[in-house]
Amino acid sequence: MTESSDPLRLKVAIVGSGIAGLTAAIALRKHPNIDVALYEKATELKEIGASIALGPNGLRTLQRLGLDNAISDEVAYRGPSNIPMVYRHWKTNEIIGADLHENVTEYLHQTARYHRGHLHQALLDNVPKDIIHLHKKLVSAPVESEDGVTLDFEDGTIATADILLGADGLRSGVRTSLVPDYQLKWSGWTAFRSVFDASLVEGIPDLPPDSTHWWGPGTNFFASRLGKNSFTVVGGVNGNPKDPSAPLKDVHWDQEASVKLLRDKYADWNPVVKALTEITPSIRFYPNLSGSSLSTWVFGSRTTLIGDAAHAHGGAHATGGSIAIDDAYCFYLALLSVFPFMATRKPTSAEIQKALNLYEATRKPHAERLLKKVHAANTAKAVKVAAGTLESDEELRARASKGSDTNWLHEYDVVQAFEETLARRDKEISESPEEISAKL
Ligand SMILES: Cc1cc2nc3c(=O)[nH]c(=O)nc-3n(C[C@H](O)[C@H](O)[C@H](O)COP(=O)(O)OP(=O)(O)OC[C@H]3O[C@@H](n4cnc5c(N)ncnc54)[C@H](O)[C@@H]3O)c2cc1C
Repeated sequence: MTESSDPLRLKVAIVGSGIAGLTAAIALRKHPNIDVALYEKATELKEIGASIALGPNGLRTLQRLGLDNAISDEVAYRGPSNIPMVYRHWKTNEIIGADLHENVTEYLHQTARYHRGHLHQALLDNVPKDIIHLHKKLVSAPVESEDGVTLDFEDGTIATADILLGADGLRSGVRTSLVPDYQLKWSGWTAFRSVFDASLVEGIPDLPPDSTHWWGPGTNFFASRLGKNSFTVVGGVNGNPKDPSAPLKDVHWDQEASVKLLRDKYADWNPVVKALTEITPSIRFYPNLSGSSLSTWVFGSRTTLIGDAAHAHGGAHATGGSIAIDDAYCFYLALLSVFPFMATRKPTSAEIQKALNLYEATRKPHAERLLKKVHAANTAKAVKVAAGTLESDEELRARASKGSDTNWLHEYDVVQAFEETLARRDKEISESPEEISAKL
């Protein structure tokens, strides 16, 4: 099963055309000898979803790819104060904490907020339609041979490629086919989200211009302007993930819900939050799911995962989009290391595997640090919910004053991280057998 008789052209099959898959396709298509095919289960690519944020890391990577249309103020919103997140008190509305950028000097790298559909469309505008194959749901494990990999779709068709990139999101079919016992679990949080025209919030007294998280006992409320004159609100409920009958545990992602739920939940909150709930026209449910760290991201010598498929962190710290973008770019850098633009033949399966290992060595430890933080926070919250104890006002203020401590995540530089991986590898290669045995 040879993918292509051309000894130079390399075909990469990407399953999933979300944020990760499209970014990977855009990066890989810069190589003169890489062909890309995207396989997407949806029958059409629609503008669904709610708000999404990109941090400095993801924005810098999109800029490196020349995607000005995906980072400009035409499509994204940046608050006036260059403060990525302000924390306010649920009852008094006073500022009780903030996350601040540390090393962000370029305006376009400042945290930006979008309707997910607008960001997706901006990426889509850079991908030729004829390489996207819709209605192609991957259903079984890819079959690998010395020459390539074969993919099976639900409609009975197959595709072949030199490399398979699973970019098929949280409920990844690629991951499920390779790690069938992998489980996603409800984290205990079900969000109510809405995106609507920003004209609806005009006239709300004291509405903060920057993206704001109000922290309260038992739940939070988030509101922000988004690009293209949109506005988002996010509320929600926390429940005990171990309680099989916890309210809103089993709702579907993007399920329509009653806006009364939002209004009732925040009825006692400060007047700004209350006013926001009153003008919100409708809400949808988004149950938050996450999973544990995978033992490997490299399957055989030709398959790997990027984005939510590789690390199901449940979108915590608003980093799901950026981390997916950086995964995609790192995969591209890793492939370039074995298949430079001037290569005279495509890489062997051993060389491809080497590239996948470099990608994994760069990105997996970073994702694991995130997963560890997310699971620790979810567990701590679940213990409180199960015990029926609410955070005291002092505890809440103390937590907010520390901020989210996530600049290591948002200001990460994927190129620098990849170069560090290469340097580590070169050092290991240059070590003599005596030096290696001295370390053992
Ligand atoms: C329609 C949609 C709306 C979203 N809305 C929001 C939002 O409002 N806010 C937010 O923070 N995050 C949202 N997300 C998730 C967010 O995009 C991701 O968490 C993040 O950007 C990482 O991107 P990803 O490419 O890894 O996954 P995703 O962006 O989820 O993309 C995965 C893609 O793979 C496709 N796919 C899944 N299974 C298969 C299969 N077996 N075969 C072929 N294709 C498959 C999916 O249809 C999807 O297009 C949304 C995702 C989707 C798909």
